[in-house]
Amino acid sequence: MNGKRLEEGKQSIGDGQGGESVGVNHSTGGASRSGATKEKHTVHWFRKGLRLHDNPSLREGLKDAKTFRCIFVLDPWFAGSSNVGINKWRFLLQCLEDLDHSLRKMNSRLFVIRGQPADTLPKLFKEWGTTSLTFEEDPEPYGRVRDHNIIAMCKELGISVVQKVSHTLYNLQSIIDRNGGQAPLTYHQFLNVVARIGPPPQPELPVNAGTLEGAFTPINEDHDDKYGVPTLEELGFDTEGPKKSDFILRSFEGVFGLSPPVWQGGESESLARLERHLERKAWVASFGRPKMTPQSLLPSQTGLSPYLRFGCLSTRLFYYQLTDLYKKIKKAFPPLSLHGQLLWREFFYCAATKNPNFDKMVGNPICVQIPWDRNPEALAKWANGQTGFPWIDAVMTQLRQEGWIHHLARHAVACFLTRGDLFISWEDGMKVFEELLLDADWSVNAGMWMWLSCSSFFQQFFHCYCPVKFGRKADPNGDYIRRYLPVLKNMPIEYIHEPWLAPENVQRATKCIIGKDYPLPMVNHAVVSRINIQRMKQVYQQLANYKLVEDSKGNENYKDCYQQRRRSNNILQNSTAGNQAASVS
Ligand SMILES: Cc1cc2nc3c(=O)[nH]c(=O)nc-3n(C[C@H](O)[C@H](O)[C@H](O)COP(=O)(O)OP(=O)(O)OC[C@H]3O[C@@H](n4cnc5c(N)ncnc54)[C@H](O)[C@@H]3O)c2cc1C
Repeated sequence: MNGKRLEEGKQSIGDGQGGESVGVNHSTGGASRSGATKEKHTVHWFRKGLRLHDNPSLREGLKDAKTFRCIFVLDPWFAGSSNVGINKWRFLLQCLEDLDHSLRKMNSRLFVIRGQPADTLPKLFKEWGTTSLTFEEDPEPYGRVRDHNIIAMCKELGISVVQKVSHTLYNLQSIIDRNGGQAPLTYHQFLNVVARIGPPPQPELPVNAGTLEGAFTPINEDHDDKYGVPTLEELGFDTEGPKKSDFILRSFEGVFGLSPPVWQGGESESLARLERHLERKAWVASFGRPKMTPQSLLPSQTGLSPYLRFGCLSTRLFYYQLTDLYKKIKKAFPPLSLHGQLLWREFFYCAATKNPNFDKMVGNPICVQIPWDRNPEALAKWANGQTGFPWIDAVMTQLRQEGWIHHLARHAVACFLTRGDLFISWEDGMKVFEELLLDADWSVNAGMWMWLSCSSFFQQFFHCYCPVKFGRKADPNGDYIRRYLPVLKNMPIEYIHEPWLAPENVQRATKCIIGKDYPLPMVNHAVVSRINIQRMKQVYQQLANYKLVEDSKGNENYKDCYQQRRRSNNILQNSTAGNQAASVS
């Protein structure tokens, strides 16, 4: 972890297994050395899992506790310097406000601790007489390392640690174990393993005043000063725009200021959304693949991905509410496909959990090594919605302004950046998504970028999205484009997707001169996409040739897909080293 991931990036999570939980009990098991019963003083550490419903580790921490404190660790320096966009920070702070609000109803409060976990936690544990630490298991590799260190620290301090699985439906290790020790790398294989395991554990009951059983939170008068939820300004963000903002790609021009939130963070909002989501009963009953209509491109009141990402909403609660609803409507047990979207999430989490290089090309055993171009200028145009293709630019503008875009809109811009038009690495695109996307998840984001760039999971590089035709299909009247690119608001329908074709008099009449008020297309799509398909073909041919050679050797060692991919990648890396690809911009 290179100091780039948000909130729980600074803190992180750990390792759990068996029946959804792992307790690492380093304490004396409830009795002091003198033999007297030791009081239990719990700290529950929120990272993801920003909720009180289905929070098994918090419930465990509350059992027989005399005191409890719910904490969130936030490094203010990190906030100002990280590559996480302001929208995402705002969403996180709203989640924390909401948690604090819910805890107040239990005469408790949230303690937002400024600093780094390894520095701040030992001091606070001593000050508070903490005997028990609980947190949700972090399924991601960085979190495991962080939690491993925290557990070691707790061991020295004699503090027991309990971590439980609740960010994913299943204990991912159990899926890996059932699959012979390796994560399934096709969705089909994954579903087979999951079907053998059976349904995931049921969500646990919410924590509320009635479940405290006498545990209380000592709160001092200076709580707000010391532990209150900070504002964006306190974290060093300038909320007045429009101006250059604090994004990773600081050299970008035309960065927007902070617009009013389209997505309100927090558990309360997530539960209200879930209810609305389920009210669309017809949708649930006939659930299929994500479809795109002009309406569905806009931020939805039932969208759930940012809430699942921050853990404001339990994925298991979502899973079982879908199940119940389906049973009510169809009077039958639901097919696995009803839960398909949630299982896709699970699939990527599972594929990434033991692969610390999942978000990289080099050193990532499942990723094809492709000699992408380095072109910071073209990357900046893409990221800032300045490609000259209105459909692509509208999507990127929505992403920057609001923090969410439709699944198929993600397809369009990811294909354009990588194998479709610009031939720029998926890692660069993934980082921009990580900065701007409210639901950006380390595992899912990297997994989907590998997918779209045909670097892993999916290989049909000859299927390429056209930024004009795809846009026209998704947004036939251009309403979406006009909403996010007001400079094109007067452009007639026939030119809205290709404004460079508008005659001069039309450009003048609509007050949008192409090349001055709105950019000319940065590439000729027909030409570059053809070249890029050839380049991808070359890469895959080399891979196939290598595989043929290895297969003909009958070398058992290469039967293992990871090993095979790693070795063929090495060959590719060597054969493409120094092969400077032509610039397409
Ligand atoms: C390049 C690219 C990057 C992406 N990055 C992310 C990301 O960082 N985080 C993320 O949650 N989704 C990501 N997705 C997947 C998908 O676009 C979003 O999950 C979806 O658009 C969220 O909208 P929704 O809540 O209405 O989803 P729904 O269709 O209502 O699905 C419900 C939930 O299922 C999960 N889900 C749905 N589709 C997928 C999928 N294909 N893969 C994994 N999980 C899925 C999400 O948690 C989602 O909230 C990415 C897709 C692409 C093409």
